[in-house]
Amino acid sequence: MRRYTLKSAGPAREKPGFLDDLNPEQRQVAEALSGPMLVIAGAGTGKTRTLVYRTAHIIERQVDPERIMLLTFTNRAAREMTDRVQQLVPVVTERMWAGTFHHVGHRILRRYAERLGYGTNFGIIDPQEARDLMTAVIGDTVAGVTGKRMPKADVMLAILSSALNTDRPLASVLEDDFHTFAESRDRIDQVLTAYLERKVQMNLMDYDDLLVNWRLLLEDHPDIRAQYTAHFQHIMVDEYQDTNALQASVVRLMLGDHRNLMVVGDDSQSIYGWRGADVGNILAFPEAFEGCQIFKLQTNYRCTPQIVDLANASIACNKRRFDKTLTAASGDGELPAFVALADAEQQAAFVAQRALELRDEGVDLNRQAVLYRAHYQAMQLQLELQRRGIPFVIRSGLRFFEQAHIRDLLAHLRVLHNPLDQLAWMRVLKLREGIGNALAVRIIDSLTGHGDPIDALQRGAPIQLPARAQRSFEATRKLLLRLNAPALIRNPGAMFDEILKAGLERHIQEGAPNAEQRVEDIRQLGHFAAQYDDYRDFLNELALVENLSAEQVVAGGDGDERLLLSTVHQAKGLEWDAVFLLDMADGRFPLARALQSEAQEEEERRLFYVAATRARRELYLCYPQWGVDRDRTRIFMRPSRFLTEINASGGDRTEIWQIAES
Ligand code: ATP
Ligand code: MG
Repeated sequence: MRRYTLKSAGPAREKPGFLDDLNPEQRQVAEALSGPMLVIAGAGTGKTRTLVYRTAHIIERQVDPERIMLLTFTNRAAREMTDRVQQLVPVVTERMWAGTFHHVGHRILRRYAERLGYGTNFGIIDPQEARDLMTAVIGDTVAGVTGKRMPKADVMLAILSSALNTDRPLASVLEDDFHTFAESRDRIDQVLTAYLERKVQMNLMDYDDLLVNWRLLLEDHPDIRAQYTAHFQHIMVDEYQDTNALQASVVRLMLGDHRNLMVVGDDSQSIYGWRGADVGNILAFPEAFEGCQIFKLQTNYRCTPQIVDLANASIACNKRRFDKTLTAASGDGELPAFVALADAEQQAAFVAQRALELRDEGVDLNRQAVLYRAHYQAMQLQLELQRRGIPFVIRSGLRFFEQAHIRDLLAHLRVLHNPLDQLAWMRVLKLREGIGNALAVRIIDSLTGHGDPIDALQRGAPIQLPARAQRSFEATRKLLLRLNAPALIRNPGAMFDEILKAGLERHIQEGAPNAEQRVEDIRQLGHFAAQYDDYRDFLNELALVENLSAEQVVAGGDGDERLLLSTVHQAKGLEWDAVFLLDMADGRFPLARALQSEAQEEEERRLFYVAATRARRELYLCYPQWGVDRDRTRIFMRPSRFLTEINASGGDRTEIWQIAES
């Protein structure tokens, strides 16, 4: 007889899965699923990547993507992350709530704005329009008041925004940051109140409102809050070091009893203090959320040891920071280059030539970037690239949409979308001859005064107009009614053509110096808009899209390969094989105007840390010796203190490149 033993199968073992792509520290983060959690770690340690894997892991465990909220710094980053999740788990991740705070707030408010006294078709105004509105409100409320200093519209908005985002009362904002206006507090209060009321009346929200009203909705409407807190099973926030008080409180309000919240960030990369971000949110997170688990990641997978060493040495000069060690996983590379150049022109020539060389060596342009502290620092380079036919793309905030001709065009769509939007009406009407401010205001008042303004349009001019104005109004009226037809509503590209043909093109040609370029801009935007099935979707997307200009300001060559030009602020979270940092001169980086205090110097240094750690393999620190100051005189510039201080502290962390002209 033979005895035969059956071996135990042992405990069920999971088959190897995608989590094996993570190192053990990262894996712990991905597998920690409940309660409050903080991941605090240096640049390039895989924070963002770990969030992606964690999300996939959660979905794999049968959580509906719709019940996950992922807050990121740009909508583009959110899209990339959801795409990557989808590559790991075969689920449609589109239903995930992923995007910026503004994006998610917008989504919620579209649904519930009525509870706050808005229509759900509320319009969104950009900073430029907010300024126009504020100017009008100041004119109506305190014009003619003398004796005390009153802030202008821009400053008024900055005061308001600071109070809202940092959650401070007006009095302390004035006391701390706008001391010269402290005496006028009552009047300022009056203006701000009127501004807030006007927006509600006109059914408009500015950017801050998307956060403020979101919070208000949750605070004042427990039923809505209960619904969302029950709905979301997991909340994650990337780049948490750059959240402000308002954002932190929104996160807290969205969080259900399970408290499944993971925030991820690096205090050394907190670079939006000037906009009210509070690094205290991340540093004090464990105290604010009892029972919080803390994770640290220490291995940098992005950069060469030489780049990590330079970044470590630099950030060590900051006094206020959370001590972290960062070691590089990758093999040795070259020392970062300290490129001494004569001036901005030579700097531009160097970058252009070196970028092409790198390309020949196999690093295509998409894998290179040029970063700088302030937009104007890239002007010479733009010209140089254009001259040499090197394709590039600029990431420059909302600049493209701030241009008058684009705003004129969009105003037509906005009038149709939200007929109570008086600012948009103003733009549309004033495009035509014979209609000035006063007349436009009267027309708008009577159109928006009673009933639906679009219905009112059907009936003709709402008030008696002089002959020329009457003709102009008639043209606008017909145009708007044509645009409002179902066929066009579903075809935003065609709407653009219609608007151009019906007068905008002529208006541009009569008024603008570079008319052709402007008309071309609009046509390009029309191509872009044509992907939407409804102009309203296009408008909504646009209101929130950051950096759309990046897709627009393209020069030289077609094809997909382009060199990216960006401010350091906009480059957060991203990486390239080779990075050029422009203007590494003292006063340029750090920027002189941002050096009022030690705290500001430290924020500039964090910015340098962010910049340096964007580079995977090659980092070029470009230092032009001669610059031009405001009154156009040549000035000699010293190398950035961020470079001298790290080399002084021992060892040579950079290799000096001397430039010879052939
Ligand atoms: P930042 O602080 O700049 O936002 P981060 O901590 O979010 O950086 P990631 O962008 O997630 O870092 O990762 C940096 C790079 O390292 C990416 O290219 C990522 O794919 C890679 N990486 C991260 N972890 C690993 C790993 N375990 N194995 C291989 N590559 C990794
Ligand atoms: Mg990241």
